[in-house]
Amino acid sequence: MNVDQLVVVLGDQLDPTSRLMREADRRRDVLVMAEVAEESLAPLSSKARTAFFLSAMRHFARERRGEGWRVHYSALDDPTSRGTLAGALEAAIEAFGPRRIVLLRPGDWRVLSALTAVAARHGCGMRVVEDDHFLTDLSTFAEWREREAGPVPELAPEPWPSLRLERFYRFQRRRLGLLLDERGRPVGGRWNFDAANRRSFGRGGPPPVPVRRGETPDATTRAVMRLVQKALADLPGGLEHFDWPVTRTAALAMLDDFVEHRLDGFGPWQDALWPGSSTLWHSRLSAALNVKLLSPQDVVARVLRAWNEGQARLESVEGFLRQIVGWREFVRGIYWSFAPRYHAANALGARNALPQWFWTGDVEARCLRDALSVSLTTGYAHHIQRLMVIGLAAMLLGVDPREVQRWFLAVYVDAVDWVETPNVVGLSQYADGGVVASKPYVASGRYVARMSS
Ligand code: FAD
Repeated sequence: MNVDQLVVVLGDQLDPTSRLMREADRRRDVLVMAEVAEESLAPLSSKARTAFFLSAMRHFARERRGEGWRVHYSALDDPTSRGTLAGALEAAIEAFGPRRIVLLRPGDWRVLSALTAVAARHGCGMRVVEDDHFLTDLSTFAEWREREAGPVPELAPEPWPSLRLERFYRFQRRRLGLLLDERGRPVGGRWNFDAANRRSFGRGGPPPVPVRRGETPDATTRAVMRLVQKALADLPGGLEHFDWPVTRTAALAMLDDFVEHRLDGFGPWQDALWPGSSTLWHSRLSAALNVKLLSPQDVVARVLRAWNEGQARLESVEGFLRQIVGWREFVRGIYWSFAPRYHAANALGARNALPQWFWTGDVEARCLRDALSVSLTTGYAHHIQRLMVIGLAAMLLGVDPREVQRWFLAVYVDAVDWVETPNVVGLSQYADGGVVASKPYVASGRYVARMSS
C-alpha cells in the first residue's frame, strides 16, 4: 500500500479540524489509532475514564472512515495488540513502511518521548505539530513567562520562578480582547468579581439545582463498557453512572445545556459545597474539552453570546471565562515549561503513603467521604472538592505528591497529564514550592463548614 505519512491520532486529540488533520492528505496518509492496555494500567485509569476515551475514539474513527480516511485502528482486545502505544506505532510502521510519522503534540511528555524513540529506532522522520486547540501557543506563553520572571533555560533547574494566574489572566484578556470596553478597560470596571463570587449556601442549602443533561450510553459506548468490565475488571471505579458525551454533537448539547441552565449561577456558587451534589452550577465540560470534542473557542463564543443576549450576569461570565482562558491555558504553559522534572517536585518533603481509603471512600469525615465516593463512582468532582477537600487532606497527611498525582490521574474522567499534574503538584500540594500558588492551600475545618452544610 502506498503510504506517505502515518498520522497518529491519540485518544485526547479527537478534533477532525486540528492542524494535524488539516495538514494530512486522506488519499496518501493513514490515520493510526490504538486502544492499549498500558494507558489504563501504567498510569492507572479508572473504568469510567478508560470507557470515555475508548468510546470517543471509536466514534471518531467511524466518522473519519465515513469521510474516506484510511484508519488503522487497533482495539483493546485485538489479539495482535502489543499493549503499548509505542508497540502500536511500531506495528503500523512495519505494516505500512511510511516516509514519516506526524502527530500533534501529545498531552503527556511520556507519550511524546516514547513515540519519538520508536520513530528514531525505525529510521522514520517524525514531525510534531503544535496543538492549535489552545488559545495560547507555547511560544506566546514562554514569552509571557520570560517577561514575568526572566529567561528560564529549557528544562529549567529548580528553584522555578513564581508565576501568577491573575497576571496571566489579564494578559490573556488584553491579548484576546475579551470583556474589554472600547478603551481597553475591563467591562464592569474590574478584572475579577471574586468578592461577589464566593457565596456559600447557608443553612438552608442550595436553591433548586437545575437538572443536568447527561448522555445515555449508545451501542458503541455499551460495547466499550462491556469490554472494560471484562478485560480490565480490576480498574478502580464503576460504570453505573456513565453519562459522558462521546461525540462532538453530544458535547455541544452539553455546552448549550450548561449555558442555558447553569452559567448564570456559576459565579456566585463556584466555591460552594453541598453533600450529595457534585455538579451544582459547574459545567462538567472538562472531559469533552480535554479530548478536544469541544474547543475553548467554542466555549468562549457560546458564553459571550449568552452574555450579549442578557442570559447571564457579568460576574458569572467573567468567573467562568477566567477558568477557560486563564486557568486552563496557564496550567498547560506551566506543564510544558517545567515537565518532566516538575512531576518529581516535593518542596514540602512529603513522604507518606496514600491512605487506602482514598480508593474506597470509607472514611469518617463526611466531606471527604462524600467527595471521594462521588469521584470513584462517577469520575467527577468539582474544583473545590478536588482542591479544598481531597487535595487538602492529602497535603495535611503528608502524602508523597507522586502518589497524589497517581490517584488524581486514575480517578477523573477529565484527567490528562498536562492539566492534572500542575493542578496536583502546584495548586493542591504546593510541591513546586510556589510556582503556581502563592501559599499552600491549607485550611481548617472552618473553611469547609462555612462553604458547605
Ligand atoms: P467548571 O468548574 O465548570 O470550570 C469550567 C472549565 O474551566 C473546566 O471544564 C476546565 O476546563 C477549566 N478549569 C477550571 N479550573 C481549572 C484548573 N484549575 N485547571 C485547568 N482547567 C480548569 N481539570 C482537568 O481538566 N483535568 C484534571 O485532571 C484535573 N485535575 C485536577 C486536580 C486537582 C487537585 C485540582 C485542584 C483541580 C484539577 N482540575 C483538573 C481542574 C478543575 O478542578 C477541573 O477542570 C474542573 O473541576 C472540571 O469540572 P467542570 O468541567 O465542571 O469545571
